[in-house]
Amino acid sequence: MNIADYKRFDVINGPGMRHSIFVSGCSHHSCEGCFNAVSWNFNYGKPYSKDFEDSVIRDLNIDHVKISGLSILGGEPFDNAEGLLYLVHRVKKECTNNNIWIWSGYTFEEICEDEKMKKLLTYCDVLVDGRFIIGQRDLRLKWKGSRNQRIINIQESLKQNKVVLYES
Ligand code: SF4
Repeated sequence: MNIADYKRFDVINGPGMRHSIFVSGCSHHSCEGCFNAVSWNFNYGKPYSKDFEDSVIRDLNIDHVKISGLSILGGEPFDNAEGLLYLVHRVKKECTNNNIWIWSGYTFEEICEDEKMKKLLTYCDVLVDGRFIIGQRDLRLKWKGSRNQRIINIQESLKQNKVVLYES
């Protein structure tokens, strides 16, 4: 798995101040107007490493700034589901600010049909799902690009076995 970018102290991708990881590779690579086409290539960026993982954990546990959690974007994070498991597992276990938001071109239902992707989902708190559709783009939307996308409360949805939207 490669990492396309890592933004510390990000206030755009999710609520509060967060750290954001952009993983490389997207098998959809067909959304016209994609915000991050450079990351479609699975070889773009730098290889994921244990050192990088340690630095993310350290950044989340920083004690002089209030960090709300981690955001995972792409590319397509769920095309890297196995690689991300180490990180999300550690975030939940070792970090006090362990709220995880994740973005995907897959829908919640598609993710739940795949064992590996579902496993990654179970460690996360909020999913922004669905492909970016340029015809439904709305610049006023918060945390998503087009109107078809949903902001989903993952744990509640898994519990109720139906999509429950996140309420901010
Ligand atoms: S799923 Fe996301 S990263 Fe992939 S092409 Fe669509 S907008 Fe771009």
